[in-house]
Amino acid sequence: MLAASASAYSSIVQSSIVQSSTVQWDGRSPQLELTNHVAFAAEPQQGWSVEEARGLPAAAWTRVRGENVSLGYSDTAYWFRLDIDNIAGSQTTALLEIAYPVLDHIEVYSFVGGNPVSRLVMGDKYPFRERPVYHRNFVIPLDLPPDQLVTVLLRVRSTSSMQVPMTLWSPDTFHAEEQARSLFEGLYYGIVLVMVLYNLFVYLAVGERSFLYYIGYITAMPLFLASLHGVAFQYLWPDATWWNDQAIIVFLNLVVVFGGIFSMRFISVLPSTHPVLSRVTILVVSVAGLLALAGLLVPYRYMILPTIGLAFIGCTGMLLLSIVRWMKGDPAARYYGVAWVFMLFGGIVLALSKFTVLPRNLVTENATQVGSAIGVILLSLALADRLNREKKRNFEAQRQLLVEERKVRLAQEKSLQIQQDANTLLEQRVEERTRDLATLNERLRELNATDALTGLKNRGYFDRAFQTLSVGAFRFGQPLSLLIIDIDRFKQFNDTYGHLVGDDCLRMVAQGIRQYVTRPQDLAARYGGEEFVVILPDTPEEGAVQVAEKIRREIEGTDFRVSDTTVRLTISIGVCSLTPDQADATRELFRRADEALYAAKAQGRNRVVCHDPDQEALTAGS
Ligand code: GH3
Ligand code: MG
Ligand code: MG
Repeated sequence: MLAASASAYSSIVQSSIVQSSTVQWDGRSPQLELTNHVAFAAEPQQGWSVEEARGLPAAAWTRVRGENVSLGYSDTAYWFRLDIDNIAGSQTTALLEIAYPVLDHIEVYSFVGGNPVSRLVMGDKYPFRERPVYHRNFVIPLDLPPDQLVTVLLRVRSTSSMQVPMTLWSPDTFHAEEQARSLFEGLYYGIVLVMVLYNLFVYLAVGERSFLYYIGYITAMPLFLASLHGVAFQYLWPDATWWNDQAIIVFLNLVVVFGGIFSMRFISVLPSTHPVLSRVTILVVSVAGLLALAGLLVPYRYMILPTIGLAFIGCTGMLLLSIVRWMKGDPAARYYGVAWVFMLFGGIVLALSKFTVLPRNLVTENATQVGSAIGVILLSLALADRLNREKKRNFEAQRQLLVEERKVRLAQEKSLQIQQDANTLLEQRVEERTRDLATLNERLRELNATDALTGLKNRGYFDRAFQTLSVGAFRFGQPLSLLIIDIDRFKQFNDTYGHLVGDDCLRMVAQGIRQYVTRPQDLAARYGGEEFVVILPDTPEEGAVQVAEKIRREIEGTDFRVSDTTVRLTISIGVCSLTPDQADATRELFRRADEALYAAKAQGRNRVVCHDPDQEALTAGS
């Protein structure tokens, strides 16, 4: 698009002072480029009437040479002259097309054989409906009588560049061609519209701001082209004659604004990485923004040159940015650069076709749209690609985070497990130790209660148990019996055989006693020296005497081995049974049993004597 505007400067206008060469129109040629048949003259300050213009000498006219009539920007009105000779031999109609729809005022005068036949006024400063032919370009129907010279004079005034590309068409060809052109235009605007809608939906779905700027860019771009090509005037604002010119300014600047912001975001031209480039881009975008605003107020003629200049800087800049970013290895810049090449491709092809380097056809004629459409699609793909890439990156980051989180959780669980294990182990140890201690305590208590020599309970244990059993007997009113056993003449035995043998004998006597103390409640203990005691709870005197007698007989009948000989021992037993009439009957019971023992000794030993309360002592057996 820029090349089209820039060509205003660069277009080759060769002139020589010759009269316009007459067009030979046979009515059968499909179309005829009129550039080489047109001559022009600049109107002086005071102006010309039609008659004056028609009467100008041949020398006043300048022939156009080259591809295009392009006279740059100027306030001057230009006159164009065209002579058509109908050699078809019959009346024909031809269509004169001026394919530059932004021209402001065009007055068309036609003369047949020197006589004026029609005057038409058109231009984008007149409502669209006033055009003789409903078309985005200016189309003038010409009636060509046979074998007559028709002269067409055009007076053109415009604030836009003075480009007047003229083509003469046979109506049939024009309409046929027009269908293809309309289809092509429609295709372009259709593609762009779909891309705008598509990206709008993507923006609404993902909320990524780049899409918004991109939408701005691909909206402003076709609106600019539509304004430049007269399509917008035809369909969007056919009565807005003032706005029609301004729209070009506003939209071209918006292309730079949105294109610039989009580029910065898309190929990451950030102040941190590219301080100079990003600052320049921001400056260009800001100026373009101001120009777009100014375009709403300031007339076209003052705005167009700065706008084109800035757009040129913008386009070059964006291409430069993409190259810089591409070289820095930004994958997005590759797409972007290619897309931009296509965008510019439109302008380049247009320029080349104008200089006849490329043939003029539908594609080269509409190269701007073709390039822009391809660029738009490529950028949209690039944007989607970038979004996808970012999504993948986010996904990967999130996955990594989850993995890390899991690791941490596992570590926590493991440390918790270790702690729990340690606790359990500690508890186990404590429990084991407690158990050991309890066993030890039990054994200590046992040891404490046991007589070391005989293994019977000791005196201390006996005292405690005697007390308890006495209380129990008192409470339940049961008889309690006590036996006191004393070995007869043991001193003598000791003296004869020695203390060690005596000790052995003490153990054997204890064994003999133990045999007859069988009930769970019964208790046998060593009271001290060679004296033993037996408590028999819930046992009347009769039973006690029986037990005592059995023990006595057992000892009496036992052979005690001493060296090679055997020795016999006897014991005396004092028995006392009573049902306690007080809680602590131990003293009484003991005293009486002891008395009975004393009696047994006194009566000759080796016997059981029961305590008799009346006689104080009674012999129970010998
Ligand atoms: P009696 O028939 O009157 O009881 O005469 P006895 O000699 O047994 O007199 P007594 O009961 O007074 O004698 C106690 C003797 O028992 C003293 C000691 O020689 C002996 N004896 C006491 N304790 C032990 C002991 O632990 N081991 C040994 N070998 N002899 C002891
Ligand atoms: Mg004794
Ligand atoms: Mg004794």
